[in-house]
Amino acid sequence: MSSLNMLTISEAQNLLRKKEISVIDILEAVFWRIDSVEEKVKAFITINKENSLTVAKDAQKKIDSIGSNDNISLLGIPIAVKDNICTKGILTTCASKILYNFIPPYESTVTMRLKNKGYILVGKTNLDEFAMGSSTENSGFQTTLNPWDLERVPGGSSGGSAAAVAADECIAALGSDTGGSIRQPASFCGVVGLKPTYGRVSRFGLVAYASSLDQIGPITKNVRDSAILLKIISGHDPYDSTSAPINVPDFTECLEKDIKGLKIGIPKEYFIEGMDKEIENTIFQAIKLLESLGAIPVEISLPHTEYAVATYYILATSEASSNLARYDGVKYGLRAVGKDLMDMYLTTRAQGFGAEVKRRIMLGTYALSSGYYEAYYRKAQQVRTLIKKDFEDAFNKVDIIVTPTSPTPPFKAGEKTQDPLQMYLTDIYTISMNLAGVPAISIPCGFTSNNLPVGIQFIGKHFDEESILKIAYAYEQSTDWHRRKPAL
Ligand code: GLN
Repeated sequence: MSSLNMLTISEAQNLLRKKEISVIDILEAVFWRIDSVEEKVKAFITINKENSLTVAKDAQKKIDSIGSNDNISLLGIPIAVKDNICTKGILTTCASKILYNFIPPYESTVTMRLKNKGYILVGKTNLDEFAMGSSTENSGFQTTLNPWDLERVPGGSSGGSAAAVAADECIAALGSDTGGSIRQPASFCGVVGLKPTYGRVSRFGLVAYASSLDQIGPITKNVRDSAILLKIISGHDPYDSTSAPINVPDFTECLEKDIKGLKIGIPKEYFIEGMDKEIENTIFQAIKLLESLGAIPVEISLPHTEYAVATYYILATSEASSNLARYDGVKYGLRAVGKDLMDMYLTTRAQGFGAEVKRRIMLGTYALSSGYYEAYYRKAQQVRTLIKKDFEDAFNKVDIIVTPTSPTPPFKAGEKTQDPLQMYLTDIYTISMNLAGVPAISIPCGFTSNNLPVGIQFIGKHFDEESILKIAYAYEQSTDWHRRKPAL
């Protein structure tokens, strides 16, 4: 029998509005589920049980006082939040030992917006330290495991959020995506993950990794929920000057629209050697289905694709080396004992940061240093412009672009930890969209013979999340993949 922790946002809204269930019923189901599976999945760094009961009672009171046709928005809906998004008064660690005790004195804009709609924070989810990674194995505290196969990784860096949604330990979650960290774990865990256009969602209160690439977005059980959450978290914010003063549509309104005649671009550079055969077949079957729904596949080229990973790892590490300078033992978190001030700085950073974070700080510092800046950082910025132009050219011919989300199914824990380059290559299909700033969504499109989820990615023009939501919804409505559940 399906229990209440398995509900989607829109299903929960309907039942709550009709007073068929109470907020406490859902919350109890969610915590029951956490109690029974969290030991295996390890999706959460912090579970917010005590606080959430008070919020739940409040939400129920509000629901009791409104009519059965009113919009209850997120009143009483249990949502998990990635642990690099600041929540006032609640531990926010970025899965780093350097922030093991950091309790933010302020609320991020996204969680403030969820709060204003009455959500319940279930807990803070695990990630690769400072969102640097593709498997959650770089977490300073624990590795999250894939609910579909506990020997495998859930992807990363938002692996905790994706696994929590897949395991029904919450109704929905927020993640962040700098090079694929929402979409790749969504694909690995068989759920829906959307990276908005750069500037669509405020980054205020998101702990910065690479500020020109970072975006927060929803991880959900279906496309409608993605549209619901995106609408709530989007929009200009005076606290983030890169958030765009652009109208936010009601993203649920585009869902039912026809996709007949929609031109879908298939970039030839994405279907090459090294891609898993089962993934390739699954994606081509999905494209056939879209064709039967009236979409028109068109072969396109994104010629600078082969430079995306290299470009990203210069720019992202450069920005990270600057952003992470603030962790010096003085302002936040860990403070080690040192002989003098300099020794205290050095010891704090040596003890507080994990190996991957240190590697990236060194790479970024090198790329920015005098004498190398022109050869690396500036060159990478130029290539970034070319990659962005690839998308602009492609979008003169097609309405959306379709690709696999990941070149392989979820891999085994430990399989790539000794080889950072292999780990970096797992993002080959997701990184370009961050460099170009365009929106992209990953949704389930099948399973491998080992019963591992496969994701398909739809990419849109700047600020055209509506088109990717529309095609994702059309595909989802004609398939059942999103309804399958892992046998935990
Ligand atoms: N896996 C990529 C990295 O390690 C992307 C991470 C992310 O999107 N935060 O940087």
